[in-house]
Amino acid sequence: VARAAIGLGANLGDAAASVSHALEKLAALGTVVARSSLYRARPWGELDQPDFVNAVALVETTLAPRALLTALKALEGELGRVPTYRWGPRAIDLDLLTYGDLALDEPGLTVPHPRLLERAFVLGPLAEIDPAFRPAFERLSLEERQGVHRLGDG
Ligand code: ADP
Ligand code: MG
Repeated sequence: VARAAIGLGANLGDAAASVSHALEKLAALGTVVARSSLYRARPWGELDQPDFVNAVALVETTLAPRALLTALKALEGELGRVPTYRWGPRAIDLDLLTYGDLALDEPGLTVPHPRLLERAFVLGPLAEIDPAFRPAFERLSLEERQGVHRLGDG
């Protein structure tokens, strides 16, 4: 079994409901051992779109990294994600953030997630459930950190 961190994000329709629903669906991939609160975050990359709701879950899984990514993409489809443009609005986005201590760089799959250490909306919720990531969150600028707000338990 490996412990994987999964990042969730949504900013179309009822984004909080979509993220909560996706958190429940992660149980199909393994044992969900921790889940963060829901967070509201300013959009990143492409700024002209609604705020995001984000969360992170830790899942103990027997799926290999590639199989886990495939399962996450299938779940995105099931939950109504329609491809738009890069960093554009989405009904649900599921990212594989970390997979144990594994480092992997293959076409279509990089672990840890390549933008993990730049994103307050990922590091904030991740640090809530895995204190090892607190220093990484603290290294972000105040402006980045202030763009992310805890909503409460989802
Ligand atoms: P982002 O998550 O950066 O906003 P997308 O969800 O549109 O962007 O993902 C684009 C592609 O990134 C996916 O099709 C996937 O193959 C690739 N990818 C590479 N590494 C990962 C990872 N660790 N988790 C999720 N997707 C990844
Ligand atoms: Mg993604």
